[in-house]
Amino acid sequence: MSAQDSQNSIAAKPPINWTNMILFTATPLAAVTLVPLYGFMVGYSAVHWVMFVCMMGFCGISITAGYHRLWSHKTYKAHPVLRVLFALGGACALQNDVFNWASDHRRHHQHVDNNDQDPYSAGRGFWFSHIGWILRNYPSGKRDFSNIKDLQQDPILQWQHKHYLALVLIMNIAVPAFLGYIGGSIIAGLMLSGVLRLVLSQHVTWLINSLAHMWGRQPYSDKSSARDNAILALVTYGEGFHNYHHTFQWDYRNGIRWWHFDPTKWLIMACSWVGLTSELKRVPALAVESARLEMQYLDATERCKSLANADKWRARLEAEYAELKSTLDLWATHQQQWYDAKSSQIHDQIHERWERLALRDSYRQARYQLKLRRQRWHELMQGFANISGSAA
Ligand SMILES: [Zn+2]
Ligand SMILES: [Zn+2]
Repeated sequence: MSAQDSQNSIAAKPPINWTNMILFTATPLAAVTLVPLYGFMVGYSAVHWVMFVCMMGFCGISITAGYHRLWSHKTYKAHPVLRVLFALGGACALQNDVFNWASDHRRHHQHVDNNDQDPYSAGRGFWFSHIGWILRNYPSGKRDFSNIKDLQQDPILQWQHKHYLALVLIMNIAVPAFLGYIGGSIIAGLMLSGVLRLVLSQHVTWLINSLAHMWGRQPYSDKSSARDNAILALVTYGEGFHNYHHTFQWDYRNGIRWWHFDPTKWLIMACSWVGLTSELKRVPALAVESARLEMQYLDATERCKSLANADKWRARLEAEYAELKSTLDLWATHQQQWYDAKSSQIHDQIHERWERLALRDSYRQARYQLKLRRQRWHELMQGFANISGSAA
């Protein structure tokens, strides 16, 4: 397809998807009119608000832990009980069945930012990537299940696909009505746990397709528009660390530091303690640090250009970067040797005591060297930041 054809395919408006258009127009309208109106006229009890919060969490986590990290990326394995719950929660969130969702999402990762093939390419603007892509039958969103053959083998997902409409109605009408009934008013349940919860949970998820590709930092890669944004993580159950996710999509974590707000990660981890999840995949720390260093190096190289003695700075930068990379590799090698020695010691006694001590000392030395190199690198990066700050 030529560039001209590509532009034409984007410019021409495809037919409207009327089901989605009516649904995703009527529900937000109801959320901003009927929901507050009922609140003023009749009022909501604390029980109704608690149920609303629980339903929000249930839908949100079903999408992030289930649809996203379990089924789209296979970052861990889950017990059938959990899979059924996620399938119900996804239907409740009204985000299509897992087959459609995961197929679109895998295509999003494979062709990220490609306006013709990424179903919700951020390159086509905020509105398109947020909700526009659902409202019309765009060629980029054409159904193609060839990338989810693995998921099509799962009987729970086959069941969800087959009964999706019934599950949607049960989860979005019967369950909120029942929760409302427990709280003393069926209408109040339908308003909060039904309408308001549906609209908010959908727009929160869609922010990951739109805003998380526009607002934030790119500490791990600039090969896609995906950004890390701690504020966005607060409302997206941890999915705001989207730059990390696009760089290392097979990691069950999105926020990798312990202080990163990622309740999806915490839930998956906590479930592993009781056998509900297993085989949690984590990207090795070395790969993560290497990616981060490369980005810092590229950024600093760019900053060098504006300096008076650019060649000198670039040479220093390259030397430090090379040293730090080789120290990292050395540390990783020694760490592996030391861990191997420790584990083989348990099974057999092939390592004499002095051999083990030598390995341990080499590992500690490499670790210390790495610490010094990291400090030097950090200071150099600080220096660059200060110089370019004062030059600006
Ligand atoms: Zn993803
Ligand atoms: Zn993305």
